Amino acid sequence: MPLIAVYPGTFDPITNGHTDLVDRGVKIFDKVIIAVAENPTKNTLFSITERISFIEKIFHDNTKVEIYSLNKLLVQFAKDHNATVILRGLRAVSDFEYEVQLASMNRSMEPNIESVFMSPAEKYGFLSSSIIKDIAKHDGDLNKFVHIDVLEALKKKLR
Ligand code: ADP
Repeated sequence: MPLIAVYPGTFDPITNGHTDLVDRGVKIFDKVIIAVAENPTKNTLFSITERISFIEKIFHDNTKVEIYSLNKLLVQFAKDHNATVILRGLRAVSDFEYEVQLASMNRSMEPNIESVFMSPAEKYGFLSSSIIKDIAKHDGDLNKFVHIDVLEALKKKLR
């Protein structure tokens, strides 16, 4: 049985921190499914179509990565895609409490799915989509932190 992980998130927009985590994930799992939350509680800057198209562009030549929109309970989505692992990123201690809460809720609903946490390269340890949007608003240099298409789209949107 292939070992399939789901990597869920809002990805508004995808950053090099997210990409780094997926690149690490495919070294361990046979497949990583990026599940892009369609209706998150957050108000997103980019539409679901835009968020997915950035991710598709970045991983188009990686056959171990698949991308879907997520509009149902995560554990149900995982079961529907034969995934037995939920992959999440842990940057700092501040992520810990929320992530453990989420993992515990998911486990109580579906005990056969394990949450696995990975940490990104140190240079992305402080990176988040919201910080990216803040810096973009003030025209800061984001070259090292997002894909060129994301950079251009941010400039257009926030100009
Ligand atoms: P969510 O709204 O679910 O937190 P995000 O798109 O913000 O969605 O994040 C999706 C996942 O990616 C989360 O597990 C988050 O901790 C992780 N993540 C976000 N930024 C980084 C980063 N710079 N490095 C590693 N993981 C990250």
